[in-house]
Amino acid sequence: MTDPKPTASHYVNGNYVEDTRGEPIPVIYPATGAEIARVYAATPAIVDQAISAAKSAQPAWAAMSGMDRGRILRRAADIIRERNRELSEIETMDTGKPLQETLVADAVSAADALEYFGGLAASLTGEHIPLGDGNFAYTIRQPLGVCVGIGAWNYPTQIAGWKAAPALACGNAMVFKPSETTTLGALKLAEILTEAGLPDGVFNVVNGAGAVGAALITDPRVAKVSLTGSVPTGKKVAGIAAGEMKHVTMELGGKSPLVIFDDADLDSAVSGAILGNFYSTGQICSNGTRVFVQKGIKEAFLGRLTERIADVVMGDPLDETTNFGPMVSQAQLDIVQRYVAKGKEEAARLVTGGARPDRDGFFIEPTVFADVTDGMTIAREEIFGPVMCVLDFDTEDEVLARANATEYGLAAGVFTRDFARAHRVVAGFEAGTCYINSYNDAPVEAPFGGVKASGVGRENSKEAINHYSEVKSVFVRMNACEAPF
Ligand code: NDP
Repeated sequence: MTDPKPTASHYVNGNYVEDTRGEPIPVIYPATGAEIARVYAATPAIVDQAISAAKSAQPAWAAMSGMDRGRILRRAADIIRERNRELSEIETMDTGKPLQETLVADAVSAADALEYFGGLAASLTGEHIPLGDGNFAYTIRQPLGVCVGIGAWNYPTQIAGWKAAPALACGNAMVFKPSETTTLGALKLAEILTEAGLPDGVFNVVNGAGAVGAALITDPRVAKVSLTGSVPTGKKVAGIAAGEMKHVTMELGGKSPLVIFDDADLDSAVSGAILGNFYSTGQICSNGTRVFVQKGIKEAFLGRLTERIADVVMGDPLDETTNFGPMVSQAQLDIVQRYVAKGKEEAARLVTGGARPDRDGFFIEPTVFADVTDGMTIAREEIFGPVMCVLDFDTEDEVLARANATEYGLAAGVFTRDFARAHRVVAGFEAGTCYINSYNDAPVEAPFGGVKASGVGRENSKEAINHYSEVKSVFVRMNACEAPF
């Protein structure tokens, strides 16, 4: 088994660096609660070193051809794939997510981003705009400078990859701060980028809690902040960034609707609901946690769902037969337990789950509440755990209005065999990322992000390029320049 202990707490200017004067941060294996490693929060000196390194390295990186930058990113993607098992084991120990998942969804997803944006790097060009009389304008697409990435704890390696790949492809440098709950994956990404030939200082990782994030985003040398996290943190960070006119991308939380019409393929719809509520033990921002089921199939849906949940294999996440792991931390487990208690108190019907198994670690059973109504706390607030709320509905118009009646707008899904209806419903969803007869796909080729309180900007796809670069317009006069006097 891979040793999860990192070489040091931070990665700055092409090297691991340590400063044990920083606040100690334990790395806890969520399946046992045991400390398996320790890092130290970045001191102000480390934060300054990281931003200085990024600032110094960025111009030369931007001056390289897109072809050369892209080749380095694609080489990093290859190394990640070669080392996938080691990286996945570290991710599992860091997050508690089953190895069965991390082997296919985490480092692999970061590799996809590096390969995709590495491929795009040589094609990032401006345009030529003819203006008559031989005059013209042209545009130059240029990097922003030093970008800060701040990650959540549910997909630490993927989030680091999704932010680093487009930022670096565009010629920016980055300082990335992982969540203090999951400190390991981004360090490995930095190490691999160096091995792939990335110049020192172009990608740096500093560990630490919110205070380190705050120090990064307020630094005047930083041009952009891309945060994955909760809505309250996003509002705070975006507010600070706006005050200094910095660019932002905000990938925030949600309470997304999943609408199942009575003509849907039942097993397929149940699969969608499972993927949208229990994958990664429910710790996914885009989860469809408000499952609206048309009344005619409600009991059939609940019956089939309960049968399928009986196939859950809860256990040691490092055992590849385990398909359901613990929560990431005691704190997150406590939050989920409070919501389960609230659901019972507000008289939702507990169909299955809700209890903690008799074992160490931060485990809780996959939980389904039925007869949930729109006003209940569990139907309104993001739980970020394996708690599915099933709500009934009668008509399409009714369900669309109820699905949209939330401050969030990250994702939404619909299951039906009637494709005209599917497209109509999707057109009406107030959400940035929608699914028809599927749930939670996140290919790098397609944009990902939210509307309303769920975020600003898009990650992945060509869209991300617009959020990591800006356009300079150049007007060219080919004849004499005239003035009124
Ligand atoms: P938080 O909002 O608590 O934290 C997100 C990151 O921001 C962490 O690295 C955190 O540091 C940092 N941070 C906290 N305060 C500040 C500050 N004042 N300035 C700068 N940085 C700060 O989110 P969680 O880590 O708890 O993640 C769960 C949330 O993330 C959920 O709401 C979920 O929906 C959302 N999420 C959204 C995704 C999306 O793509 N839309 C994907 C995944 C998750 P630290 O925690 O170390 O103190």
